[in-house]
Amino acid sequence: MQILRGTVVTMNAGREIIADGAVAFDDSSIVAVGTFDDVTTDHPDAMISGVVSDLLLPGYINGHQHLTGDRLIQSSVPDNLPPGEAIFTWVVPVHAEHSPDDDELSATLTLAESLTNGITTTFEAGTVAHPARIAAAAERLGARLTIGTWGWDVEDGPYAGPVAEVIERQEAALDLVTGPLISGWVSLVGHDLMSDELVMAASSLARARGVGLTFHMSPHDGDPASYLERTGRRPLLHLADLGVLGPHVAIAHGVHLDEAELDVLGETRAAVVSCPWAYLRLGQGLTREFRHFDLWQRDARLALGCDAENAGDMVDGIRTAALFAGLAKDTRLDPTAFGAHDALELLTIRGAEALGIDDEVGSIEVGKQADLVVHDRTRIEWIPNSPDPVLQLIWGSDGRSVRDVYVAGAHVVRDGAITALDVQALTDDAVAAGRALRTRADIPAPSRWPIR
Ligand SMILES: [Zn+2]
Repeated sequence: MQILRGTVVTMNAGREIIADGAVAFDDSSIVAVGTFDDVTTDHPDAMISGVVSDLLLPGYINGHQHLTGDRLIQSSVPDNLPPGEAIFTWVVPVHAEHSPDDDELSATLTLAESLTNGITTTFEAGTVAHPARIAAAAERLGARLTIGTWGWDVEDGPYAGPVAEVIERQEAALDLVTGPLISGWVSLVGHDLMSDELVMAASSLARARGVGLTFHMSPHDGDPASYLERTGRRPLLHLADLGVLGPHVAIAHGVHLDEAELDVLGETRAAVVSCPWAYLRLGQGLTREFRHFDLWQRDARLALGCDAENAGDMVDGIRTAALFAGLAKDTRLDPTAFGAHDALELLTIRGAEALGIDDEVGSIEVGKQADLVVHDRTRIEWIPNSPDPVLQLIWGSDGRSVRDVYVAGAHVVRDGAITALDVQALTDDAVAAGRALRTRADIPAPSRWPIR
């Protein structure tokens, strides 16, 4: 039995914050939450750590993260490219050239950064070529992960194939999931890169296996245009008519939605994952209408994501939550519309609800998994401590102050460092693998300004 001391932001139904609080956990589950005095009196033999100034939160949830080669070319794709060029000149060729070692190394680096920023649960975005290697990285680090494998049935492109073959690979990816922290999801690339037959089969597979289905849709207005041309309907209306949408579905992006599509999301209870940094980096029009805020106001299912290392780049949930809060206020010209506390809900319990994992994670409550994040409030950015820790967490801090992280009770980050391996020791491998991948994928290596 272990006890962590600190101010506990529970994210329970009453959103209670316990000033001098404690969380006790045994094996993987939380067994007590309360005042430090009460919890230590009830569990006198427990090992106690932490100090009263620590801030304890449930682990953060990243609903959309590419765990493959993007990491090895991180912040390399220029941010002044015309729409689509980043994907088809850079990202797809890189993904096509991943070796299994590249996949595991990339996932290790991204998940290590995620954990050190307090992200305990990651949803892989559907571009994994070697799922067993990604799962191995997550298991090694002790990260909670949902994973599928690359799925599309386009004419050309890496890992493309006919529907039956793509579905077979998805089934195989679901079957390889073994560890308690890893769960399988059916994952498609999405956009206009899936036939009706494929997306219907994928949705049926997810329903039959009791798992989720994720795909990309409408981060830009190209998807609506393409669906209108092919089907006469906007994407979500078409997918709803096919019977694909339901509470088992998490759609990445959904930036360009019309009123009818918002209604469909309400009716089907399909979730949307908002990755605001990616849309801003790529200039995709999030702020024109900011439909994700409409979804929030309609009580639709919504989560946050960090996306990829060349679309948002940094894997930091606090930074993402703060951006979402700022956009909500600014696009509505209304500072009362949404705030830090709402954003923290998206990063924790509301995100967990959207992604169907709120029975396990998303809040600090007895019986839930001991996925816990400890922020060190003695760091300079926290001094002096605000009487409202949530306000200070979202607006005044970021992942830098994450000192300790637990996943299912295991101490995966200690004093800011991954416990399972020396991440710095991977630097040489990362540099060499990134260089080799660039060469194999034949991607340019420009810098906008001359480097002498
Ligand atoms: Zn994505």
